[in-house]
Amino acid sequence: MQKDKQVIHMDLDSFFVSVEVRKNPALAGKPVIIGGSSDRGVVASCSYEARKYGIHSAMPSRLARQLCPQAIFVKGSMEEYSKESQVVTGVLKERVPVLEKASIDEHYIDMTGMDRFFGAMKFASGLKETILKETGLPVSFGLSVNKMVSKVATNESKPNGQLQVPFPHVQTFLDPLMISKIPGLGESTFRKLSEMGVRYVRTLKEIPQELMFKILGKNGLSLSQKANGIDLSPIVPYQERKSIGTQQTFESDTMDIPKLKALLARMVTELTFELRQQRKLTACITVTIRYSNFETVTQQAMIPYTSLDSLLIGKARDLFDKVYKKRMLLRLVGVKLSHLVSGHEQIDLYHTAEERYSLYQAMDRVRARYGMNSLVLATALDMPGRK
Ligand SMILES: [Mg+2]
Repeated sequence: MQKDKQVIHMDLDSFFVSVEVRKNPALAGKPVIIGGSSDRGVVASCSYEARKYGIHSAMPSRLARQLCPQAIFVKGSMEEYSKESQVVTGVLKERVPVLEKASIDEHYIDMTGMDRFFGAMKFASGLKETILKETGLPVSFGLSVNKMVSKVATNESKPNGQLQVPFPHVQTFLDPLMISKIPGLGESTFRKLSEMGVRYVRTLKEIPQELMFKILGKNGLSLSQKANGIDLSPIVPYQERKSIGTQQTFESDTMDIPKLKALLARMVTELTFELRQQRKLTACITVTIRYSNFETVTQQAMIPYTSLDSLLIGKARDLFDKVYKKRMLLRLVGVKLSHLVSGHEQIDLYHTAEERYSLYQAMDRVRARYGMNSLVLATALDMPGRK
């Protein structure tokens, strides 16, 4: 039964900004924007002080500067944030029974059954303290009967907050909230519902399921459930199931290295496209090869969270060089991306040339419309005269 569940949602407060403030305390309390400052830059994250001006992530930097001319731009480093993220995950992993890493700065913990021994609220407060003590990073959490309500509770408690919503109070907690507070309710859905005069959860929950389905399809049904405090999605333990991969077996075995490397690049391009469509980032890449004698070997590397081909193609080729040691024909090559978490805006942080961000967005739009093979990076082509 849902009412017996105890789910913690933990979210680091303006994570990227907190990492920067720890490095440079002079930034504390100021409107700080992480992301490119040029006209084509995009806001990856910002401080609570910047949010007061209406600035939010994924907003064009130019607009952010108009809203708050005194904002301090920091370029940011995904490599550093990825490392910090792993440290926080490590702290939690040591201490909790079932942990899901949902994004670079968010975790779900299933405390069901444990609360009899600890008291889940006391335990969660302890974790919050521990994270602050061991990493210097502030975190907020919500504790309730499922992932969705816990996440909403976290958001309501931020920053540096904690909030428990026990089963009997779930509906009274949700009712007065704006529908935009429901996780996963996108902008176009928000507009549709607003036009119908639906602004608060208490109104949304009264709309008959059939009508919700008629207006918004399957998503409508899930929203209807959420408005009623129901979320059946399970906590997926850390690293399990969270990978995507592809492999190819050759019709005739080969050791044509340039061709194999071009193939690897194409595989990575395909997988990263899928990642971006799912709005996910990866932190681990694995290359597998199988020799003609069926011996199978793999090489793996941890990387900063990314969903871009540029970084991963180079990595895949390095791994191939490391794993392909015998001068023997190959019958299979495969690539896997794992340690997946939600996230996408941050891709801007990798590039000094911010055009890259819009380039990828444009490429993805073309691919979504015309198919994966409509566009191929030059690095993925096996052309004479090119590396
Ligand atoms: Mg956060």
